[in-house]
Amino acid sequence: MPAPVVIIGTGLAGYNLAREFRKLDADTPLLLITADDGRSYSKPMLSTGYGKNKDADGLSMASPGAMAEQLNAEIRTHTRISGIDPGHQRLWIGEESVAYRDLILAWGAQTVKVPVPGDASELIFPINDLEDYARFRAAAAGKRRVLVLGVGLIGCEFANDMACGGYEIELVAPCEQIMPTLLPPAPAKAVQTALEALGVRFHLGPVLNRLERTEQGLAAHLSDGRVIACDLVVSAIGLRPRTDLAAAAGLEVNRGVVVDRELRTSHANIYALGDCAEVDGLNLLYVMPLMTCARALAQTLAGNPTAVKYGPMPVTVKTPACPLVVSPVPHGLQGQWSVEGEGADIKALCRDANGALLGYALTGGAVLEKLALNKQLPALLA
Ligand SMILES: Cc1cc2nc3c(=O)[nH]c(=O)nc-3n(C[C@H](O)[C@H](O)[C@H](O)COP(=O)(O)OP(=O)(O)OC[C@H]3O[C@@H](n4cnc5c(N)ncnc54)[C@H](O)[C@@H]3O)c2cc1C
Repeated sequence: MPAPVVIIGTGLAGYNLAREFRKLDADTPLLLITADDGRSYSKPMLSTGYGKNKDADGLSMASPGAMAEQLNAEIRTHTRISGIDPGHQRLWIGEESVAYRDLILAWGAQTVKVPVPGDASELIFPINDLEDYARFRAAAAGKRRVLVLGVGLIGCEFANDMACGGYEIELVAPCEQIMPTLLPPAPAKAVQTALEALGVRFHLGPVLNRLERTEQGLAAHLSDGRVIACDLVVSAIGLRPRTDLAAAAGLEVNRGVVVDRELRTSHANIYALGDCAEVDGLNLLYVMPLMTCARALAQTLAGNPTAVKYGPMPVTVKTPACPLVVSPVPHGLQGQWSVEGEGADIKALCRDANGALLGYALTGGAVLEKLALNKQLPALLA
């Protein structure tokens, strides 16, 4: 039996690659290995569960058994790879070694954790996969007050969703506005105001210094002296691409696992895509880039080497209280923002010195302009 094509990870990157590959090659042995339970789900739905009234089982789309059948693949769940030996085309699962023809790293990004002093750190919940989500839902049942750490895209989405689920939400982050790396001030204010109208409270500036149990729940001590009473904490302070095993195997890593336009790492027969991959200098932690990569890499694995191309990659942020679409300014480009509109309906455009559109942020009614604006945006990888 020839060595299989091995994919590490059954998130959107791993499963979409497997699907695309099977459209081109029905027979080559395919093995997927995942540290989690292998259920197929769409991760963006994790921040819509309360609004859609779906728990973790409700968000799951297929069991690993059904996926194995659909993909004509073997899927090993709850199996964490512990090392890669590129010279011998083998990977390690503890003491067991597994040979591969081609190895694809689709092992995602992990949540950034900072130690929080106090006696309640186990009541801080990162939510980055279906199992995290199930743990959070179980802990939050019957509770009322949730403190969210982080006001990035994910923190704001959870705040909107959990507020719709009836929770009292407080957001804490050491910055002056929400989504500071994505948005200029005016659209950030529009979204913040809409969330506040839902009852969400913002504490912008301080960090969480200490979390302690009290008779009524938890006391979150902030660095500005405020103390917030809550029942549990969601941590949404950022994601870091997984690179450790790749670095240990001698692969080039930077922010992510470094790959070229054919998604090839610095070692032949090893590829990467999804949240863990830095593609020609870009580490984009969104769905659209990984879908594009899955189609290109499937071609390469099927014997037709194909370079990936990225067009514009706008992101729809799931804050229904104030619809938001953002196309971040590509890294390394400089421009000036101009802002039109007022209240909830903001059109913020970033243009370079020649007037070419580099990026935008649209809120409220202005999101209707996104299709027309997308046509003017530069491709991210032409
Ligand atoms: C709450 C939330 C909302 C989001 N909303 C949006 C959105 O609206 N739009 C958008 O474009 N993007 C959104 N994103 C981002 C998007 O979901 C991710 O970019 C995408 O799902 C990443 O997929 P992935 O397959 O690369 O990684 P993951 O889904 O993290 O999968 C990684 C896989 O690797 C496995 N793994 C890790 N280490 C090992 C190991 N050592 N051995 C074996 N297996 C391993 C894991 O078990 C898992 O199966 C959101 C993210 C979150 C958290």
